[in-house]
Amino acid sequence: MFRAYLKVAEECDVCGEPLNLHRADDFPPYIAIMIVGHLLVGLMLHLDMVWHVGPLTYLYTMVPLGVILPILMLPSIKGAIVGLQWANHMYGFGTGQRD
Ligand SMILES: [Zn+2]
Repeated sequence: MFRAYLKVAEECDVCGEPLNLHRADDFPPYIAIMIVGHLLVGLMLHLDMVWHVGPLTYLYTMVPLGVILPILMLPSIKGAIVGLQWANHMYGFGTGQRD
């Protein structure tokens, strides 16, 4: 589905379905930030209440996680958003000559 990290291919390699009709825009990063934010807040509360770690531990763990986790999640989330738009015939999906 992707021809680069987050660049959606023009069409499906297998069936030729056009994929360039999607309008994912800022929705995938929004979802990634929401998921990672909830994970990190829960982890921070756990670290504080159970292990009573120092402030630098948060700096050394939460900052890398806050950068790495969204980068890892974004392709899957964007693929899901594009698939959702395709399945619901949004933005021209399903109106091509194949239907
Ligand atoms: Zn296909």
